Amino acid sequence: MLNETMYGLGSKSSVIRELFAYGLERKKIVGEDKVYDFSLGNPSIPAPQQVKEALLSLLQEPAETLHGYSPASGDPEVKETLARSVNRRFGTAFSGKNFYMTVGAAASLNICIHAVTNPGDEFITFAPFFPEYTVWVENAGAKLLVTPADTESFQIDFEAFERLIGPKTKGVIINSPNNPSGVVYSEETIRRLSETLRRKERELGTVIYLISDEPYREIVYDGLTVPYVTKYYEDTFVCYSYSKSLSLPGERIGYIIVPDEMADADRVMAAVNGAGRALGFVCAPVLFQRAVAMCADVPSDISAYGRNRDLLYNGLTELGYECVRPQGAFYLFVKSPEPDAEAFSERAKRHDVLVVPSDSFGCPGYVRVSYCVSEKTIVDSMPAFRAIMEELRDCL
Ligand code: PLP
Repeated sequence: MLNETMYGLGSKSSVIRELFAYGLERKKIVGEDKVYDFSLGNPSIPAPQQVKEALLSLLQEPAETLHGYSPASGDPEVKETLARSVNRRFGTAFSGKNFYMTVGAAASLNICIHAVTNPGDEFITFAPFFPEYTVWVENAGAKLLVTPADTESFQIDFEAFERLIGPKTKGVIINSPNNPSGVVYSEETIRRLSETLRRKERELGTVIYLISDEPYREIVYDGLTVPYVTKYYEDTFVCYSYSKSLSLPGERIGYIIVPDEMADADRVMAAVNGAGRALGFVCAPVLFQRAVAMCADVPSDISAYGRNRDLLYNGLTELGYECVRPQGAFYLFVKSPEPDAEAFSERAKRHDVLVVPSDSFGCPGYVRVSYCVSEKTIVDSMPAFRAIMEELRDCL
């Protein structure tokens, strides 16, 4: 007999994947440039030239060392190099021993969640959130509680959040810059979050871990800085990935940081190693561990995303769509002009515009528009967005 939970997960794909698959088929019928596919978060900016140069130089090394196993938690020199880079850029004081190399943010989160979860534990996150959190938390035997969105600012509704914290709260998952809202948590939000968690830890006599999911850390606009969360709250796991910052999603490379300041840090790091072992997430691809270490200080070139953000935000708001101006990541969170976002997504689909309804992000009534696409796709899609709005005005 199968594991029915796993069968369920594997046999139905996510709304995002379904839309993307539909787009591919539709393009075969009406033409590549006639379908405006804003469904996926696949970086449209190529990986920097330095990544290619790093790989070419690594390929000159003897195959037996280059393609061999590293220690389970990663190559010690790679971890030291990455620690120095993070320290330089964010004023932290990590060393290699605070790092665990992973196959991307998905693995980073899974490992951290598994490392601390006992049966009956709860995690809290904030709507709108990355839908896979539910899968990952439940797979570890815990429950995910969702703090409703503050739809004015998409920062945190602290009153609603505090109501969810209790003796079973094992961790809190944040994602800033955010997929799907594009919002970056301000320093004030991070400060208040830290103060709340610290106070609750004291009141409840428990440790509450903050899991900071930050694959979009470097993708921010208008000179904004993203607060480095470990500097505000000691019990923080940093879950990082190079999928977006270096446009390497297919290479599956990232890391976890467990700061020394975390309660019982050595035991937690041992549990991280244990969770990595139990899940089979050991020895992340060595070629890419080495490549990202060589590119640790390479800045992400996000100018194309910045231009796309402006084009899309200005274009859609001029047409009457309402949305928060994104400060980071590459998503625009647009209020559905009709009450049911799924119906709106279907309507848009009939105009060959593919946008993701927000229900699966825990915040109904919106659609996510991924703008990691070509500038041309955005420009060419505007008449279709206009036609959708006109159609709605006629029928609502
Ligand atoms: N977390 C968020 C918020 C994401 O948007 C993604 C990917 O889109 C992930 C985690 C997974 O990232 P990775 O490809 O590094 O596993």
